[in-house]
Parts: sequence; C-alpha cells; structure tokens
Amino acid sequence: MRIVMIGAPGAGKGTQAKLLQEQYHIPQISTGDMLREAERCGTALGRVAAHYMSDGQLVPDDVVIGIVDDRLRTGDCRTGFILDGFPRTVAQAQALDRLLAERDAGLDAVLWIQVPDREIVRRLSGRVMCRQCGTPYHREFDPPKQADRCDRCAGELYQREDDRADRIATRLAVLAKEIAPVTAYYRATGLLAEILGTGSQAEVSARIRAALP
Ligand code: AMP
Repeated sequence: MRIVMIGAPGAGKGTQAKLLQEQYHIPQISTGDMLREAERCGTALGRVAAHYMSDGQLVPDDVVIGIVDDRLRTGDCRTGFILDGFPRTVAQAQALDRLLAERDAGLDAVLWIQVPDREIVRRLSGRVMCRQCGTPYHREFDPPKQADRCDRCAGELYQREDDRADRIATRLAVLAKEIAPVTAYYRATGLLAEILGTGSQAEVSARIRAALP
C-alpha cells in the first residue's frame, strides 16, 4: 500500500500514519522528522533546512525530493509506505510520480486530513516534544506524567520553534497557499480522499479505513 497524507501541521497526519504503519507493516516517512533529525545531527542538509523550518517556510523542493528519493531506495519501502508531509508542492508531487514510475509503482491513495484552523491552533500551541527521542505530547490532551520530562526516556520536553503561536499563523498561511494546487493535482488523478480530521483518533482512523482501496 502506497499512501500519501496531506493536511495542516497538527491535523493528525503523524498519528494516523503511525496507526497505518502498524496495520500494513509499511514505514511512515515524515519529511519533517527527517529534516529535524538532520538539523539535530548538524549535517549540511540540516543547516540548510533549519534556516527555512524555524521561519515556518517550506524547504526548497530539490532538497526535500532528494531525501525522499534516498529514503524510497531503502528495502523497507518495497511493499509500500506512508508519506507524511510530502508532497507539499506540485513539483514535489510530479517528482514523486517520476520516482514511483522508475520503480513501476503508483500511489494507492492520497488522504487529505481536514481540520478547521482554530482547532489546529489549539492543537499546535499545546504540543511539546522530547528533545532526546522525539516522542510528542500535548500539554492539554496528552500530558506527560512528570511536567517537562518524557515518559519514555526522561528527556527534556520542548516546544518546537515553529509551534509557537506567532509561527503557526505563518505555517497555516504557507499551507493554504500550497495545498490547493497539490490537492487539485491529486483530485484530477481520482486518488484524493477528503477525510474529516476532527473527533477521536479512532473515529478518524475508521474514516481512513473506509476510504482506502
Ligand atoms: P512538519 O513536521 O511536516 O510540520 O514539517 C516541519 C517543517 O519542515 C515545515 O514547516 C517545512 O519547513 C519543512 N518540511 C517538511 N516537509 C516538507 C516538504 N515536503 N517540503 C518542504 N518543506 C518541508
């Protein structure tokens, strides 16, 4: 199963991708996670990406397409994948088509998870993450047992720079501009499924199951 997940930051793409990963035994590929990891490791790629990410801007297409191309070459993607946060532009969508065509493969579904902006702001501004292992928490909906410490590894929890309230507005504005051409691109292929992302995780997951081929 080859799936693309589209949606605003905080729409629940990551959470739902993890559920699909367990269900279909295919990897979740999050470009945001890969870029943050590169930044944490201080690689050249990480330094370029950090410049854009801290401002809530998109990292240039060629950089992101390059890391997805490398990732799709690894063995665990042979039976499928869930792309989370990629493609975000039409150029990326076209590049993905090319990368898959080279492998005689195609996408099975594009899931567009939709959540109203005011709910996104509520979700993102409370989100914190472990500096050591990357586990996400939410101060209101999914708090850690001990304030500011990760339940799994006791690492320090921090708020992502781009989850600050002033940055969220920029990210949503960038997204609104970028998402329309990408969803139009996939609507034309007949692969686009629009999924309501409000309600419980189980409710959203059931809607996704119903939409998959
Ligand atoms: P995310 O974790 O998906 O919210 O991504 C965090 C940040 O990483 C975004 O605000 C962008 O700066 C960058 N990023 C992630 N995926 C992409 C992509 N497909 N294209 C461009 N930039 C991306």
